[in-house]
Amino acid sequence: MRVMIWCDMEGVAGVTVWAQVDGGAALYEEGRRLYTQEINAAVRGCKRAGADEIVVVDGHGAGGAWQFKSLIPADLESGAEYVLGYPWARYIEPLQQGCDAVLFVGAHAMAGTSDGILCHTVSNQAWYNARINGTLVGESGIISAICGDFEAPVVFASGDAATCREVNELIGDKCVTAAVKTALGRYSARHLPAVDACAMIEGRVYSALANHNWPAPLKFTNPVTFEVELATPDRANDFRGRNGVTIAGPRLIRSTADSFWHAWDQFWPYGG
Ligand SMILES: [Zn+2]
Repeated sequence: MRVMIWCDMEGVAGVTVWAQVDGGAALYEEGRRLYTQEINAAVRGCKRAGADEIVVVDGHGAGGAWQFKSLIPADLESGAEYVLGYPWARYIEPLQQGCDAVLFVGAHAMAGTSDGILCHTVSNQAWYNARINGTLVGESGIISAICGDFEAPVVFASGDAATCREVNELIGDKCVTAAVKTALGRYSARHLPAVDACAMIEGRVYSALANHNWPAPLKFTNPVTFEVELATPDRANDFRGRNGVTIAGPRLIRSTADSFWHAWDQFWPYGG
């Protein structure tokens, strides 16, 4: 069994504010320790379930020298490989080679979720909403759609309760979830302690993989249209002159292609 773990940091238990997830900020080292522990717990669950290839992708844009490198290399669990420093939602090599199951750990809710801690979609400053064929999606939806193009189902997600609800609504109830905290606002939550969050993640990852009762890969009808409503019109300049991408309104970017991956690929810069 070959699995991929897509990681983010905002959905980790104990993480409440940006200062825990922004590279170099006052509480960042605390945040990355909590983050690394949860990812290690997920890797242990995969190993127990018999995964023989585990590829972990750090998907947290911490900024600066820490961009997509918030996992602490010296503390990582053995038996997996870790992709650090690669642009967001672009590492598809394991999907191209054939990936059986995908897991999300530390995920957060889409922009505008009232009970989503640190909620945003890709960019807190630049993006207001994202839609695939008219369906509002967050980051978990974007990655699920990429994986779906390569026939890989998303079988597990952890994060706050709002994120688990968002994933189940999009992918279905067969996706096993682990809510490690419940937001009490965008910057406040009721958390499990790290030790309990890690035990829950390890146990549910194991059962998600071992039970094999997986949801179908997420598919959208072709042609697939990906639309982003930006926060301000100047942000549209970043998308001018790209094949297949149109500036559909002062703040509306539209990318259409024969699959979500192609719509995403022509839209999303490697520098992102
Ligand atoms: Zn993040």
